[in-house]
Parts: sequence; structure tokens; C-alpha cells
Amino acid sequence: MTFEDLNLNTPLYNALNDLGFTTPTPIQEQAFNVVSSGKDVVGIAQTGTGKTFAYMLPILKNLKHSTQENPRVLVLVPTRELVVQVVEEIEKLSKYINNRVLGVYGGTNINTQKRAVAEGLDIIVATPGRLYDLALSRVLQLKSIQKLVIDEVDVMLDLGFRHQLINIFDILPERRQNIMFSATMTEDVDALINDFFKRPERVSIAVSGTPLENISQTRYNIPNFYTKVNVLTHLLKDREIYNKVLVFVAYKRMADRLFDKLDEIFHDELCVIHSNKTQNYRLRSIEQFRNGDNRILIATDVMARGLDIDNVSHVINFDTPIYPENYMHRIGRTGRAEREGKSIVFSTEKEQDSIEHIEALMRMEIPLLELPETIEISKELIEEERPQIKERNNPTKRHTEDEPGAAFHEKKDKNQKQNLGGSYKFKMAKKYKKPKTKGDKNYNKRNKRK
Ligand code: AMP
Repeated sequence: MTFEDLNLNTPLYNALNDLGFTTPTPIQEQAFNVVSSGKDVVGIAQTGTGKTFAYMLPILKNLKHSTQENPRVLVLVPTRELVVQVVEEIEKLSKYINNRVLGVYGGTNINTQKRAVAEGLDIIVATPGRLYDLALSRVLQLKSIQKLVIDEVDVMLDLGFRHQLINIFDILPERRQNIMFSATMTEDVDALINDFFKRPERVSIAVSGTPLENISQTRYNIPNFYTKVNVLTHLLKDREIYNKVLVFVAYKRMADRLFDKLDEIFHDELCVIHSNKTQNYRLRSIEQFRNGDNRILIATDVMARGLDIDNVSHVINFDTPIYPENYMHRIGRTGRAEREGKSIVFSTEKEQDSIEHIEALMRMEIPLLELPETIEISKELIEEERPQIKERNNPTKRHTEDEPGAAFHEKKDKNQKQNLGGSYKFKMAKKYKKPKTKGDKNYNKRNKRK
């Protein structure tokens, strides 16, 4: 397939020509018609696959020229670096299109951005916090937004932006197309999609279910967290064989918990990365692992995405990924450049279904190893493993059919208000109009200069 098959327009073809791009990447090929159709879409694609053009090509093709001031396309991304990068990509594609693109992010002077917004724009690329502040200041009007793109949804949620996103959804027009891109499927992403979107179409580049031949895979059945720690500790004590080990866990609380346990024994050999760690901490950890100062790196799926590290001797899946694609991404971190790589996956009883899904995707069974005899089987359970207490035969508990209905105890109107979060703040700000510039001297000065 070539870009000709996508039926673009001359300005886009000219821009692609200048860039020297002739063939759409797989995600571009797959996303084009779905995004063009106007339906809600979730695209699963990693950075480097051409995902930015995958959503921008159809958007730019269909965006008519306009002189109106309010933006019609909103792209939300998790970091300022990504704002800059996405703006650059859009500008490359818009070389022959007369449109106005602006990137805004926090940590910089908001007044400069307000002035830029006030000049009018078509596409705004933003981090959620700054976008919301600009909307709240009423300089930025979101009523004309037709397309909302959320890029790197997984990272966005991992960084704790869920609330900010929901606040933004509240002030966007209801009739709009939602386009989301995520590198990994996570439970958080799933939950956001289920809670706020109506069955979006899913496009993804099929992850190859064929693992590299030079990765040998094995697995252990292990009853619980603390026993998993015992097995991992046992393995890691063999420093010669386990010389560069990437340990994967599903979420950051687990990463911290595991780090604390392993730190007692492997203090100087251990580092961890997840999204609650600062960028500097993460970069330092990765560097120390890369150059061999630290032998063991604990990482979450989302944070390990961009990792490019050679000579990883073992990938240890401390938990069994629910999404088989994540397993494929994880084990692909070892066995690179034709070297031998090893992967081990730990599964509890609850995780057996996930093992089956992974084996089904690969069309092979992962050989099961017996636990070494010296391993102590722990009886202690972490919070998530403890059984949910179900009260049975509690004579004081009401039966469902006895549950009071609405008429029994209707709340008074004034007590029914709940969740006075962001949208409430926004409504109040709207009601008690604040001066647009709060007497900003610089604003007036600069405007005079024009
Ligand atoms: P992204 O995944 O959006 O971060 O894109 C990764 C890089 O691939 C960017 O530098 C793009 O300019 C480039 N790129 C995007 N689409 C194509 C294409 N069809 N052919 C070659 N390079 C591309």
C-alpha cells in the first residue's frame, strides 16, 4: 500500500513528498479509515510506529479552512516533551496547509500562552493541567472542539491524570469524536474507556505471537507474593547466571513493595522505575542498569516501554500479564541481537487464565518448572490476596428485598449534591466572571506595542 491509496489531498501529498515518506506504516494504514469515519477509536501503538501521523493524516485531510478563533481539534498528551514533538509533527504535515497550531504546557508563563490562544487557532496540543487552566481563565474556548485526541493514554493514567481528564471531558462539547492512542493496554485504560466512551473501535498492529527463537521461556506456579519473593531471591543469588535482570510488575505499588523486599538483600544491585519516580531518578536508574552498575531493574509495563537496553540476561515476569501483548513486549527485552535470552514467568492460581491466553497467542506451552525444594512457602498474604470477607447469616443485615426504596428516605435536595470537583469549580468561575487578564500589565503593554 502507498499513501496514494489513502486518497489524501495535494497539500498532504506535497508535505509527505518533502519528508520522503511514501508508504504508510501499519498503524497509519489501519487507523486511517476508522479515524476518517468519525467513530470513536482506540489505537494501540507504541512510539516510533508513526502513530502521530496515524491520527493526524485523517484529521488534517478533513479539517476545512476556517478563520474562526476557537480551536476545533484538541490533542492531549502527558508531557511537555511530547507537546513539542507532536506540534513539530503536525507542522511537518501542515507545510502546505494554512492552519494554526499551538502547543501549551505547564511550568511556563501562562500569560504568553493566553496571548497566543487569543490570536486564534485550529489545533491545540496540550498537557491536561495547563489546558484546564487556560479553559478556566476563559481565554480558551473549547465549545468548537470536534475532535479530541488523547495520546499515550496509558502514561497519562499512570501519571495520575484521570481526574484532570474527566474534568476536561466535562467542559467539552458532547458531540465530538474521541480518538485515543495507547502503547500498552492496562486495566486503567480499560476502565477509562468503559466509563466514558461508547464502544470505541479498536485498531492495533497485531503483536506477533511468535516469540524469538533465541528466547527460552519457563514458568513457575507460585501461591502468593511472599513466596514469589522467596523464589526470586533464590534465583537472583546466582549472580553469575542472573547477571542483568529485568523484573516486570503490573503496577507501581507492586514495584515499590517488591523493591522494599529485595532491597534488604540486594541493596547495591537494585534499581526501580515507575511513574511516581522523578524523571531524573528514572533516567539514573536506567543508566545504572544499562552500564552494569546495577544488576537488577524492577519496572512497570508502562515505564519500560521505551527502554532500549542490550544484553538483558533474564526477563522475570513477577506477575503474569493479563494482556498477552504485554507479555510479548516484556520478553522481547531479552534475546536481542541474536543473543540467548531467558524469560521466566511467575503465576499464582488466579493468574492461570492469563497464562492460558499467553500460550494461546504464542501457540505453544511454556514449560513448567518445579519449585526448588529449599523454597519456603509463605502463608502470609498481601492485602490484594486476602479473601474478601463475605458476611453470611448476619441476622442484623437487611436482605436485599428489604432495602429501602427511594420513597423511604429521599435525600433533601441540598444534600444531594456530590462531587464538587473540577467541573463545579469551572461553573463557579463562569458564574462569577473573573477579569480576563487580572490587570496583567505585561498583557496591556504588549498589546499596545502591536
Ligand atoms: P511516532 O510514532 O508518531 O512518534 O513517529 C515516529 C517517527 O516516524 C517520526 O519521526 C515520524 O516523522 C516518522 N514517520 C511517520 N510516518 C512515517 C512513514 N509513513 N514513513 C516513514 N517515517 C514515518
